Amino acid sequence: MLGNFMYCNPTRLYFGEDALDNLGGELKKYGKKVLLAYGGGSIKKSGLYGQVTAILKESGKEVVELPGILPNPTSDKLYEGCKAARENDVDLILAVGGGSVCDWAKAVSVGAWCKEDPWEKYYLRMEEVDNRIIPVGCVLTMAGTGSEMNGGAVITNHQQKLKIGHVFGDNVFPRFAILNPRLTFTLPRYQMVAGFYDIMNHITEQYFSGTDDNTSDYVMEGLMKSLIHSSLIALQNPEDYEARSNIMWIAAWALNTFVAKGKATDWMVHMIGQSVGAYTDATHGMTLSAVSLPYYRYLLPYGLPKFWRFAVNVWGVDPEGGSDREIAALGLGRMEAWMKELGLVMSLRELGVTEEMLEGIAQGTFIMEGGYKVLSREEVLGILKASL
Ligand code: NAP
Ligand code: FE
Repeated sequence: MLGNFMYCNPTRLYFGEDALDNLGGELKKYGKKVLLAYGGGSIKKSGLYGQVTAILKESGKEVVELPGILPNPTSDKLYEGCKAARENDVDLILAVGGGSVCDWAKAVSVGAWCKEDPWEKYYLRMEEVDNRIIPVGCVLTMAGTGSEMNGGAVITNHQQKLKIGHVFGDNVFPRFAILNPRLTFTLPRYQMVAGFYDIMNHITEQYFSGTDDNTSDYVMEGLMKSLIHSSLIALQNPEDYEARSNIMWIAAWALNTFVAKGKATDWMVHMIGQSVGAYTDATHGMTLSAVSLPYYRYLLPYGLPKFWRFAVNVWGVDPEGGSDREIAALGLGRMEAWMKELGLVMSLRELGVTEEMLEGIAQGTFIMEGGYKVLSREEVLGILKASL
């Protein structure tokens, strides 16, 4: 049965090859000063930087640039951004890049005018936002996180060896997001497939919970089937617009809060993967692919009916082909084959994890409720050992 919920998604999303044409119109809604945030330089190589700065200039904006927001943005980079946003009193933060730049922009949007240390207030203490919020707009260059249409912002603190996501309310969602699938064509293959698995895992984290008849589960099965289909096309031809545009749209739907409404969610693969990220700074999607099969295989007996349904409805396993347990296991086997075909990282060692790190990674994992089993710290360690 659907639980009680409020649904609101305030992000205005422009999608398609001409999506950037809408940037000028959006910029009119905000004041003169814009903080232009981007990563390590891919937007300069692709020419997007030139296009965006030309639109900012035509719109009469005063631009403060903040480059160098690298994958898995850090608390130090967050402090740097808060200082720049506050000292320049910016009216809008324009994030041009992938999930890391979008996440960072949202963290700065709530951190700039925060009277305390934003890492401590919003990440360690998980408090609600009670200060001025700077509006954020995104021009997305990578499909994966869904950050373009949600309130999530993940920050890594290397000194404390913690990588934590805060899911802020709809007042922190990007005000607008510009999604041109063609912009994702220049992604290196490693990043492209890591993004595909991030999307898949956002869906499975929300799918593997509950035993009720819930419309969201049917929606998620459709999203997963479309993702599997399009990912294999994109693997052969990364410039297939149809496949890349489907994937970009699935990424937004996978984590724009819609499919989570009225149902419990799990998120343990993300919790373990993020703790791996705090120790290794590895690519987010690959931390998930390395730990997810050991986790799901461990979870299977606790959520058997849903794993059976996943096998039959998503992976096309014959429902008469064996015992319930065998059919469910076949579904995970097909997922494993797909993951290997994509070329995903399947073990933690490949990400630089050593045996000595496992205890610390287990300690740094936030244990969430909502999945088929609430894990003990020992069980987290067991999953990490099985993922090594
Ligand atoms: P990303 O870290 O934003 O980008 C990964 C790499 O891809 C960067 O080196 C970037 O280079 C490059 N890149 C991006 N677009 C490109 C393009 N079009 N062409 C060539 N290179 C390109 O990747 P992401 O997976 O989108 O974001 C990961 C972060 O998001 C992690 O910290 C993760 O924990 C977080 N996350 C957030 C949510 C959420 O709900 N908010 C959900 C899941 C994960 P440049 O730096 O040079 O641009
Ligand atoms: Fe993710």
